[in-house]
Amino acid sequence: MEDCIFCKIINKEIPSEIVYEDEEVIAFKDINPAAPIHILVVPKKHIETLLDVTKEDGKLISHIYEVINKIAIDNGFSKQGFRVIANCGKDSGQEVMHIHFHILGGKKLGDKIVG
Ligand code: AMP
Ligand code: ZN
Repeated sequence: MEDCIFCKIINKEIPSEIVYEDEEVIAFKDINPAAPIHILVVPKKHIETLLDVTKEDGKLISHIYEVINKIAIDNGFSKQGFRVIANCGKDSGQEVMHIHFHILGGKKLGDKIVG
């Protein structure tokens, strides 16, 4: 999608620190990390918000969670734990209109909203 910063990262039009990539998904380090580990997992399909996810994206969404697990294991932080966040819309503060899953970790995470 034109003018989408994450599509540009996917198309290698702008650089990123890629930690994982396959045909459906890319994962790269957040440029403005909120924790020692802050990785964004992004489907290559341009989907604007979580509200645009449909049943036909089911396999893609479960694949994203498999990729999150693989990244946590391969990078050695699966046992210490981590948090996954996906923002949707104005009140969440979603800035990039291409769905993405934040993986946060590497320290005891504060600001727990749920649980
Ligand atoms: P959100 O607020 O959920 O839309 O999160 C967007 C995230 O994308 C923010 O944490 C930004 O720091 C991150 N971000 C924006 N541009 C880039 C970029 N070029 N490379 C890596 N991360 C980025
Ligand atoms: Zn996009």
